[in-house]
Amino acid sequence: MTEKLFDRVALIGIGLIGSSLARVLRRDSPETAIVACARRAETLAAVRRLEIADETTDDPALAVAGADLVVVATPLSAYAEVGRRFAPALSEGAIVTDVGSVKEAVIREMGPLLPAGVHFVPGHPVAGTEHSGPEAGFAELFHDRWCILTPPPGTDSAAVEKLSELWRRCGSQVEIMEPAHHDAVLAITSHLPHLIAYTIVATATDLEGTTQKEVIKFSAGGFRDFTRIAASDPVMWRDVFLNNREAVLEMLGRFTEDLTALQRAIRWGEGDKLEALFTRTRAIRRGIIDAKQA
Ligand code: NAP
Repeated sequence: MTEKLFDRVALIGIGLIGSSLARVLRRDSPETAIVACARRAETLAAVRRLEIADETTDDPALAVAGADLVVVATPLSAYAEVGRRFAPALSEGAIVTDVGSVKEAVIREMGPLLPAGVHFVPGHPVAGTEHSGPEAGFAELFHDRWCILTPPPGTDSAAVEKLSELWRRCGSQVEIMEPAHHDAVLAITSHLPHLIAYTIVATATDLEGTTQKEVIKFSAGGFRDFTRIAASDPVMWRDVFLNNREAVLEMLGRFTEDLTALQRAIRWGEGDKLEALFTRTRAIRRGIIDAKQA
């Protein structure tokens, strides 16, 4: 157990990410009071059953009262509503952060709602699974992963450092980034792969009945890895694409061009081109394994 960083942490949204953070705090900082906020009674009942919070409420304003750290961990489409509700109840000096997968839109939507005297340090733990809800969380989720923080210019450096320390205690490495750069990097490393997975699984699902059965039967040929990604939460991913539209469309444009080039190489039997590309991409996989991100 290490010295506690925060007295009272409000988690606005307690699904996969919020509940994983609650589990780390429970384990490493039992003196920190945890308040969990969600909409549905079933979610709050699950939180109580799992004993990962001291208090539960469906009222964001009640949740943040007296908190020195507020973590918004709802889908992006709920940010404006929850932000409007909790902003007037924030304590002077509180740190407000989030875990959303897109950063420019978050800063645009949430920033203006927050009163002066509150430190806004948006964040994104680059860690996750295809599962949702408080039962899906686990304390090791953030271990050996990166957490990206995108503080707006002029943010109090002590607040950034305190939040960085929290993520380091979760086992993550912290990187500070410009929000637009974050959104471009994540568009290619996370958002586009999800879009491709959703597409390929939908294409297979639209095939005729008998072929569809074979898609399941022989899925070990590669398809099943796409189905894991395509099982990710539909609301969360709808929100990601709507909130990171420009960066995703830019990456999608490049991808489509590259796909067309591959299509041409196959059509014209250009084996050397195919082999050269596949050799290059194999090296990327090795780099990911070496960086312990596999
Ligand atoms: P999740 O498991 O679906 O949990 C979402 C939580 O938000 C639930 O507790 C839900 O409560 C609550 N919520 C939804 N609307 C709300 C509202 N209007 N007011 C209060 N609470 C509300 O989601 P998650 O996977 O943890 O994702 C949360 C955030 O983390 C998203 O912004 C996502 O972009 C980001 N993120 C996700 C991943 C990932 O792999 N999943 C990775 C990194 C970052 P109810 O059950 O009551 O609706």
